[in-house]
Amino acid sequence: MRYSQLFTKTSKTVPSDAESVNARLLTQAGFVDQVMAGVYSWLPLGLRTLRKVETIVREEMNRLGGQELLLTALQPKENWMKTERWDSVDVLFKIPSQTGKEYALGPTAEDIVTPLVQSFVRSYKDLPLAVYQIQTKFRDELRAKSGVLRGREFLMKDMYSFHTSREDFEAFYEKAKIAYLATFARCGLNAKVTESSGGAFSKKISHEFQVETPAGEDALVLCRGCSFAQNTEIATTKEGDACPTCGAVLVASKGIEVGNIFDLSDRFTKAFGFSVAGPDGEKQEIFMGCYGIGLTRLVGAIVEASHDERGIVWPKTVAPFQVHLISLSSKDSALTADILAKADALDRTLAAVGIETLHDDRADVRAGEKFADADLIGAPLRLVISEKSLAAGGVEWKERSGTDAKSVGMDAVVDEVKTFLA
Ligand code: ATP
Ligand code: MG
Repeated sequence: MRYSQLFTKTSKTVPSDAESVNARLLTQAGFVDQVMAGVYSWLPLGLRTLRKVETIVREEMNRLGGQELLLTALQPKENWMKTERWDSVDVLFKIPSQTGKEYALGPTAEDIVTPLVQSFVRSYKDLPLAVYQIQTKFRDELRAKSGVLRGREFLMKDMYSFHTSREDFEAFYEKAKIAYLATFARCGLNAKVTESSGGAFSKKISHEFQVETPAGEDALVLCRGCSFAQNTEIATTKEGDACPTCGAVLVASKGIEVGNIFDLSDRFTKAFGFSVAGPDGEKQEIFMGCYGIGLTRLVGAIVEASHDERGIVWPKTVAPFQVHLISLSSKDSALTADILAKADALDRTLAAVGIETLHDDRADVRAGEKFADADLIGAPLRLVISEKSLAAGGVEWKERSGTDAKSVGMDAVVDEVKTFLA
């Protein structure tokens, strides 16, 4: 894509929500636009990254056996009354209609998915079953202050599983943990499985997936010697204690919760009177689990975990463009035309092998400004074609996470990019 056609512009102005790194960098680089506190529009660059995260999440949930669907965000009050959550969930947005009725704007979807699955599942033979969706959620958060980490409107993947035995539920729960770790690793994040209490929607023990960063809202106690970690809200251990798993000294840290998995037991199936006929015809209890990932929060967590003083440093898998190609004008207009033609040709060749390039073709912008924009936007690889690079034999190559530039021959560059991105 040609940068000159990108309608968003980078900005030097620090936004008002500047205390959070993700809000500052995502806004200045033109990935998101804050509409009001906790509510962001996703702009072309931001949406490309969000879609990549979405694809990774979808692939991993499909691999786990989840069936994708799309539930409603506008939900009947009756369902929330049935689960006794209409008055107890403090973040629930309640929408009055001109008909006098009221609706919930979904902060989660147990109240919708449970009766849906109930209407199709008759016997134990129809289970186990896992369904999921990737959908906008709404929560009336009091403190929406951490950029896209805590929104009033945000994108979430929510999966729900139904089982006829506790053993079967637990086996699936363990598989979901592994799928979650794979998902976060593919997004370039090292997430820690953390023991926690059930949060706003459940009283049971659950597991959170925490990305350690100083920007995290959650206080953690964790072990550097093994994988033990607890959220301090429920912790049975504290900083300085011996790790119950390996004996090393526990330390305090901070994390961003990017995912959360819960044992719901019969909390929702009971409310809707959902049971199935077992092999002997007797009514059988159902064991339910739910599994969330905050996709927009995940993008923010990646920025918090991977940036420097100049901008975002995207992992290769989720960068909006893999290559940031810069063509620089020369004083000689014929040479400038040649540089632009060579850059366009490289852009096309890269596109032909599936590599996404943002080509900064702007004629009236100084080199320093183009380099600053490339660093802010954060593509993993910067390529420059200029009078200087051509004199040195081809293309200047600089990796976003590195410091040194090198020269690569025009004929070799595509293969080198392929190897770099593989
Ligand atoms: P938190 O503890 O951060 O308030 P939660 O435990 O209430 O979140 P869940 O109901 O488990 O969150 O939601 C699943 C996932 O959705 C969370 O792990 C998180 O990644 C994301 N999420 C939750 N609330 C928000 C929010 N207000 N803005 C953005 N993402 C959110
Ligand atoms: Mg939580």
